[in-house]
This record gives sequence, structure tokens and C-alpha cells, in this order.
Amino acid sequence: MTTKNITLQVNDQRAQGSVDIQEFSEKMRFKRGMLALALGLTLTAASVFIPVLHFFLVPLGLIITASISISRFKTAALIISGEGSCPICNARFRIMKRKSAFPFSDICEGCSRSVVIEILP
Ligand SMILES: [Zn+2]
Repeated sequence: MTTKNITLQVNDQRAQGSVDIQEFSEKMRFKRGMLALALGLTLTAASVFIPVLHFFLVPLGLIITASISISRFKTAALIISGEGSCPICNARFRIMKRKSAFPFSDICEGCSRSVVIEILP
């Protein structure tokens, strides 16, 4: 896990913060994808035994399993958590777990403004 500095920006006002990023190696990505695939296929196979509903649950399960495992195969890094302060109201700004893709925007809990979060080089 690495900690990186970020800027939080609303219009032309800026504030500093930091995020903890978990990066995945090729092997870890494969493992995460395979785990999702195995779990999804197990649940889908179990839904075969539910009368009538299995007509919907099996195809739906296969589609959901494929999309979740492809997404996990592709995810190279995750933001585990992050913190900073809002450039407008100065309230504590928390960043929740999400895919690591910069820049992104989030809503301030204090003033409900949209804050753009960018990573510092
Ligand atoms: Zn705010």
C-alpha cells in the first residue's frame, strides 16, 4: 500500500490531502478475478435448483459473474481510503474505497459541493 498526495479543488480554490492506494500485481489481479469467477459460478450453479426462478437466475448469474470478474481482472489499483479538507467549508473530507482513476469528483459532506480530486505528481 502506498500513500499519495492529492489536491481537492472547487473552482480555483485548492486544499491538500492524501490517499492510500493498494496496487495489484498481474498475479494478484488474476487471483482476484478467479475468486470472483469461482464464487459467482458456485452461486449460479446453486440457483439451478430453485424451481421456475432458475430460468432468470442462471442467465443473470452468468452475466453478473462475467462482468464482476472481468472488472476485477482489469482493476490495477484501488483507493483504500483518503482524507483531506474541503477547500470551501474546511470540513473534513473523507474518500471512500473506490477504483483508482484520477481525476474524479466527490461531494463534500459539509457543504454538498462537488470537489474534484487530482493526484499530485
Ligand atoms: Zn465543503
